Amino acid sequence: MKDIIIVGAGTAGMSAAIYAVRAGKTVLVLEAAAYGGQIINAADVENYPGIKHISGFDFANGLYEQARELGAEFGFEKVEGIENDPETGRKLVRTAKTVHEARAVILATGARNRPLGLPEEKELVGKGISYCATCDGMFYRNKVVAVNGGGNTAVEDAQFLSNVCKKVYIIHRRDEFRADVKEVEKLRQKENVEFLLNSTVTKLHKDEKRLCGITVRNKLGGEEKTVELSGLFIAIGQQPDNAAFSNVVSLDDKGYIIAGEDCDVGNGIFVAGDCRTKTVRQLTTAASDGATAALAACAYI
Ligand code: NAP
Repeated sequence: MKDIIIVGAGTAGMSAAIYAVRAGKTVLVLEAAAYGGQIINAADVENYPGIKHISGFDFANGLYEQARELGAEFGFEKVEGIENDPETGRKLVRTAKTVHEARAVILATGARNRPLGLPEEKELVGKGISYCATCDGMFYRNKVVAVNGGGNTAVEDAQFLSNVCKKVYIIHRRDEFRADVKEVEKLRQKENVEFLLNSTVTKLHKDEKRLCGITVRNKLGGEEKTVELSGLFIAIGQQPDNAAFSNVVSLDDKGYIIAGEDCDVGNGIFVAGDCRTKTVRQLTTAASDGATAALAACAYI
């Protein structure tokens, strides 16, 4: 039995772990994949207060080591469901391996990459389709690639790829970017980057085994063109994955857990980070939610 089980070892979950163990609670963090969450894919983070520059990987490692050294335990198991024992008030956290028990649970499940939803997209992952430029960019050295999206991830991915690849197209469905203006300006200075704006990817082309091109449709004129390339990096945002917990929390129409700034959804369940309804999803707000949820869970216990 733990005082608190945290589901998800991203920035929110690991920040919650740090606050909870420092408040004297026993903590188990359960993570389905690797610790770190989305930030692990960021080549350079320069908007976390107090840190001028840090790679996402180093940031995540720092959080993990800090939480472990303070006494948080980590288990790499996918959580498949949570039940509330009405008699004891304990939370039963079910994984493929076992059932863990805790007095309170913090859900910090984050969000995962949103797919374009095109035919054969899934089959081509690792064969020309990628959702992580820093992980896979080197496989496309001196090749032609495209990045789809208009947020910070897409723009930073395009910057990173422009240093590795022969040519980079950035394809965005509008002519204004959601990404920071400064980063878009940096990208515009790159000679090997071509902007395809007001445009969407409508078709994936493959040769025998791999992606070899895409069809891009201009939304204004309606014309379509084929772009021959070796890689397409999809960076069109994230979507949550909270269906397994819908018996203990309420979800909005996009699947985010409905929760306010107090991160408390009642019955000893707390929610932190990108998995909950909120207006700003940033590293700082994930860390902030972690602290809020952990202290609220400690008070509940
Ligand atoms: P995002 O900000 O949600 O941007 C997603 C982009 O994809 C938007 O430009 C959106 O277009 C486009 N899009 C969404 N659905 C689409 C579809 N079906 N087809 C085509 N385009 C689609 O996602 P993100 O860039 O991954 O960033 C997520 C959060 O992390 C943001 O808050 C971001 O600021 C933050 N982040 C920060 C850093 C950093 O500070 N270093 C780095 C990366 C990410 P519209 O603009 O038209 O909606």
